[in-house]
Amino acid sequence: MRIAVPSKGRLREPAITLLEDAGLGPETPGDRALAFPCRYAPVEALLVRADDIPEYVQDGVVDCGITGLDLVRERAVNVTELLRLGFGACTLEVAVPVESTVTNASELTGTRVATTFPRLAAELLPVSVELVQVDGSVELAPRLGLADAIVDLVSSGSTLRTNGLRSLGPLLHSEAVLIAGSDPSEETRQFAAVFRSVVEARSARYLMLNAPEDAVAAICALVPGSRAPSILPLAEPGMVAVHSVIPAAEVWRLLPELEAAGATSILLMPVERMLG
Ligand code: AMP
Repeated sequence: MRIAVPSKGRLREPAITLLEDAGLGPETPGDRALAFPCRYAPVEALLVRADDIPEYVQDGVVDCGITGLDLVRERAVNVTELLRLGFGACTLEVAVPVESTVTNASELTGTRVATTFPRLAAELLPVSVELVQVDGSVELAPRLGLADAIVDLVSSGSTLRTNGLRSLGPLLHSEAVLIAGSDPSEETRQFAAVFRSVVEARSARYLMLNAPEDAVAAICALVPGSRAPSILPLAEPGMVAVHSVIPAAEVWRLLPELEAAGATSILLMPVERMLG
């Protein structure tokens, strides 16, 4: 099994961590390595520029690859998106200089728009514009007089602000994805299932708590999630343990509510895998 992993940039480290968390045992690649093996699985990872990964996967040079959804869409390749990976989140946004009077992308008709995403800009902008294709530092284009607006990736928005730009809103939400060729093999699909079990587990926490039996109904009503909580008797009469899997994002809200409902000895643990 060969998987393409971004050789540099912000997706490289989280992609390698995913291989690690999936239990493949990736050998730590040096900065200039082109490929690395995995200790525990017959998997070879090729380090490739994130922009080239969609073509590598489409052409069958590798069985699957990790790259940004934005790049997959921009290259317009014939690949299968197997899994959203939960990192590398960003949006493709259209932005204008803060002093511009434009408030909506539909007012950009006929203006010059700089971008490294010409295909997506043409497809997703609501009006027809003159696209100025640049290779990097898109945010500088308006200041250099090359463009009236830009279409670029944004995560926190601080680069836009630093460069005196104001977003007119998102055109596309992106994150890292696992892609395979147009007809993925059964082996590749099983490989994706291993990653899925890790990605899903990352957003879950295992909750254990003790409670008086008469508080169980109130506690169970608070605990969200599809899985029915386990209720286990404790050595102390009248007391039970409640175990459940909860969404990590609910933890901050839920813990004080559980305490108020009578829960004690609350333990929260990371989940390594979720299957089934
Ligand atoms: P990089 O190699 O660091 O330029 O990033 C490549 C990929 O990282 C992009 O194609 C996106 O999928 C993702 N990404 C996440 N946040 C950002 C951001 N703020 N700017 C650029 N790329 C981002």
